[in-house]
Amino acid sequence: MLAYIPSWVEDETLYSWCARWHLAFSPSTKTTGRKLFGIASAPKTWQFGGSLSRFCLITGERLGDAKTVLYERTIFGSFLVLASAEHARRVTEGVSPPSALLGAKRVQLGLRYCASCLVEHTKIHGIGLWRMPHQLPGASICLLHVEPLRQKREKQQLWAVPDSANTSTLLFNNAKELEGGRLVSRTAEMIFRARTLDVAQMRASATKILCEAHRALDTKRLDFTKIHLDWSQSAIAACIGRSGGNSLGVGPWIGDVLRGRRSERNPARWAMLVGYLCERGWVTPEAFFDNLTKTSDAQEKIWKECELIPLAVVDAFKRSSSVTEVAMILNVHDKTIAKWIREYSIIKSIAKSWLTKNDPNIS
Ligand SMILES: [Zn+2]
Repeated sequence: MLAYIPSWVEDETLYSWCARWHLAFSPSTKTTGRKLFGIASAPKTWQFGGSLSRFCLITGERLGDAKTVLYERTIFGSFLVLASAEHARRVTEGVSPPSALLGAKRVQLGLRYCASCLVEHTKIHGIGLWRMPHQLPGASICLLHVEPLRQKREKQQLWAVPDSANTSTLLFNNAKELEGGRLVSRTAEMIFRARTLDVAQMRASATKILCEAHRALDTKRLDFTKIHLDWSQSAIAACIGRSGGNSLGVGPWIGDVLRGRRSERNPARWAMLVGYLCERGWVTPEAFFDNLTKTSDAQEKIWKECELIPLAVVDAFKRSSSVTEVAMILNVHDKTIAKWIREYSIIKSIAKSWLTKNDPNIS
């Protein structure tokens, strides 16, 4: 076990802790790598290389066990929140390496810090820290100071603490872009803190928001060409486009995520998507995640149905008095209407009054 094990300071990352330990106790990064993770090349791998179990063993789990450190002190936490239960289990039990979570996903691998946080940390702790919220996929603003983050340009990780050398500042051209960056950063933080999220539920919720905004009945009828055009004109898309070499916001990605084709478990994509829905004024980050984490009770099934059924459909049922009438208003087949009545209790309850009179066969 290590002779001296400093505690975590505030919400610093594992990398930040290693940097502080390295500067205080080690002559070289190779020595630090061998000591903390069992391999000399540990600092060459982004975040950390080698064994996290070893790190937790030699720190006597005073900083937490491997699973806790992974979830709370590395950005792998954001990926674990969205991973399938099986994938998350394999990574947390050490069967798969954490880097397997990143897969082929495009992740911006740069250390970021806030200049104001750096001043405060230096004053209070005598050293700069890499804060967890600044490293999250999608984060570009310090939510504490509402200030654009700065990014280190070094390709190799040197277990250094933040300083102003060799950095670039993420650029925002106006207040609207800054607010867009804040919304994406806020969403990124809410994903990280959620511990677990149901991606299918997130897709359903985001789809419903877009269906209502575009007055479409369901995903099939959503015009994704129009949606992507609208996205490309958003302040968030403008910032991401300028950040250079970042192709996250390019191509038909919203359609891909919502149809579960690709990137549906990438936290950066979700931060951008929810941020975009917020920028357009259709939801807030708090409301989006609050709706996903409602406790289960007798109302849950009905509530879920309400979330999935566009208001236009509910309205059509309220205004009508027969299956044919609803079908005409919504421009869908009678059989589809009958199917909806059978499957959704909310719709069934609205249609109940006229069903018994005109169409008793449906129930
Ligand atoms: Zn700050």
